Amino acid sequence: MDLSNGRAPITQPALRRRLRSRLLKWFARHRRDLPWRHDTDPYRVWVSEVMLQQTQVATVIPYFYRFLQAFPTLTDLAAASEQEVLRVWEGLGYYRRAVNLHRAARQLVKGHDGRMPDDARIWWQLPGVGRYILGAVLSQAFGRRLPIIEANSERVLCRLFGQRNDPRKNPARRWLWQVAEELLPMRRVGDFNQALMELGALVCTPVTPHCAECPVSGDCQARRKRQQQAIPYWTSGPAKVEVSETGVVVLRGGRVLLVQRPQQGRWAGMWEFPRGPLGKQESHEQAALRLLRDLTSIRAEVGEKLLTVRHTVTHHHITLVCFEARYRSGRFRSKYYRDGRWVRPEELAAFPLSTPQRRLARALQSATNGRSFSNQIPGDRTPESR
Ligand code: SF4
Repeated sequence: MDLSNGRAPITQPALRRRLRSRLLKWFARHRRDLPWRHDTDPYRVWVSEVMLQQTQVATVIPYFYRFLQAFPTLTDLAAASEQEVLRVWEGLGYYRRAVNLHRAARQLVKGHDGRMPDDARIWWQLPGVGRYILGAVLSQAFGRRLPIIEANSERVLCRLFGQRNDPRKNPARRWLWQVAEELLPMRRVGDFNQALMELGALVCTPVTPHCAECPVSGDCQARRKRQQQAIPYWTSGPAKVEVSETGVVVLRGGRVLLVQRPQQGRWAGMWEFPRGPLGKQESHEQAALRLLRDLTSIRAEVGEKLLTVRHTVTHHHITLVCFEARYRSGRFRSKYYRDGRWVRPEELAAFPLSTPQRRLARALQSATNGRSFSNQIPGDRTPESR
């Protein structure tokens, strides 16, 4: 697959040879012993690379073991339900990755007999596979000459070549991919890609790079010009936004109302207690009643505050104030949520929840322990599910 589009080379042959040789030697000596590096099985490489997008290695390791224990093969993953996959992924964040991985596994089992093909055209068709995943999986699992760019290799290459433009935007973005492709060796491509990332993770670190230990320091323009702190150069991103939200836990006959988020958007397919943004000049109690009415068709009486959870999603700082409420009337109906169920607190562990919602579930379980839902309605009938 020709990704250079016939552009003139940026790098010189002698420099390419030197950088390849030094990086590969350094990687052979300093690579970390990570669980996905024990073999080049494409399924394991793929799962690890999807998990590592936007997430630190130390965070990924226990999830990687847990995921492979639950779904040891591509066929096992394809046979699982989306809810099972999300539950195992819970806490790792960016849940769209898990949904896409699961859908892609089903696509491979259905259309390619469960094989993971050495064919970039097939990979391009899979949900969640962009240029990074394509290069990472095919270079490591099949030795294909495809480059990768992620945060670590981006930083290394920008510093090494003294790139002074924002690498997240063109033309610097195009430049980066071209340089990464030009530097690829003919053999050990997967090792070379990992070496670039590993150097960024261990030596060419964001704040204080360890240039004295760097195998390519002799060729580094940022070091020569003492510009390591200034490169990569990023233009400022969107400003932080403070968001106030209200959440509500409706209790009914020993059960609570749990709803499933829409198929698209943030936390797609995950479950939660009904929640939404606080309106202007609205109290949290008023917002709780409005959200229940508009999103679930349930009427309830709002009670005590349960918990306040603060969390950050991209540039949004969210403060979620959660209340208990007593069910009064209505049957779950929603144009927004995919599903709604009345579940016992001990059943909450089976549902995939985002980290703030899991905290709320735990707070609810603590709050209800010992008082057995004292605010349940006498004579309440068996709760229904939709
Ligand atoms: Fe990074 Fe320093 Fe190596 Fe340059 S010399 S690539 S700044 S660690």
